[in-house]
Amino acid sequence: MKVAVFSTKAYDRQFLSAANSPNQHELVFFEPRLNRDTAILAAGFPAVCVFVHDQVDAATLEILASGGTQLVVLRCAGFNNVDLQAAADLKITVVRVPAYSPYGVAEHAVGLILSLNRKIHHAYNRVREGNFSLTGLLGFNLNGRTVGIIGTGKIGLILGQIMKGFGCQLLAYDVYRSSELEAMGGKYVELPELFANSDIISLHCPLTPETHHLINAEAIEKMKPRVMLINTSRGALIDTQAVIEGLKSCQIGSLGVDVYEQESDLFFEDLSGEIIQDDVFQRLTTFPNVLITGHQAFFTEEALQNIADTTFANITDVEQGRSCPNEVRAQS
Ligand code: NAD
Repeated sequence: MKVAVFSTKAYDRQFLSAANSPNQHELVFFEPRLNRDTAILAAGFPAVCVFVHDQVDAATLEILASGGTQLVVLRCAGFNNVDLQAAADLKITVVRVPAYSPYGVAEHAVGLILSLNRKIHHAYNRVREGNFSLTGLLGFNLNGRTVGIIGTGKIGLILGQIMKGFGCQLLAYDVYRSSELEAMGGKYVELPELFANSDIISLHCPLTPETHHLINAEAIEKMKPRVMLINTSRGALIDTQAVIEGLKSCQIGSLGVDVYEQESDLFFEDLSGEIIQDDVFQRLTTFPNVLITGHQAFFTEEALQNIADTTFANITDVEQGRSCPNEVRAQS
């Protein structure tokens, strides 16, 4: 199939090209993101391949459909950037990669926890400048602490396993209970109980209308003073302004985020030397107890290989008229 690949970086080209052997599909790589302004580039392509910041809204889908596109291939798990109802109305099939790096994301969340707790990001700079003082680097033992996991799907469960290995107690909240989480000693509780009793809270649920700003001022007020908050899921799970207030009052002891509500204006691009216009993001970066990474939790060799392999399996399923297990449909 002829596929227009949007939001292409060098690493996408490398892994997709290698997995597309022996040139099963015709790939044309475009650097811009897919949106209503760039959709015209896909005219004549039966398939487009997109990532997390492409805007596959109704207007974009209409332009794609008029150019002959019948398939949107997400090379990510989340599909909150796709108007699934509009796609269905236009008879455009949408497929995704449901799991490409659950270990990578969970391990990155642990990286944020360890770095924030032991202030490794500060220690790194201090030692390079000849400052060997320990003042301000005091951490706490993870052993015996309580970790609250919101969303115990693939990533949340792996985080549970890892934190259990550190000797942590696990509290969990999900709309569905996982027997695996319970088998490792985790306890499902309602959100207020999780907020009140967790030393570390890590978010692993999808962004939906129900979970939008799940962490708001009211939730933060219920948390243990000096709680550590980790978000590797989606930026809009957190009301950033409320979190900034929580950091200023020290109700939040530390914050580690790999995602940010307005990240599409920033992440994945080299903006060094440019003036960042987002004052909320800039305020976040001023806190010594905030660690931000730019949506890199998934970014492992295994993930890029999985993304490429699943992407081509999805395209081939649709091309050959087979039902694709990774199709996503609008909820009726
Ligand atoms: P998953 O579908 O396996 O698990 C999600 C869990 O959230 C499910 O158990 C589901 O029941 C639960 N859930 C749904 N609605 C909920 C609600 N209202 N409250 C609480 N729990 C709810 O997904 P996953 O593979 O574990 O991924 C989790 C999230 O991680 C994805 O939605 C995605 O946004 C994010 N993600 C981030 C990166 C990254 O690089 N930072 C990479 C992959 C995925």
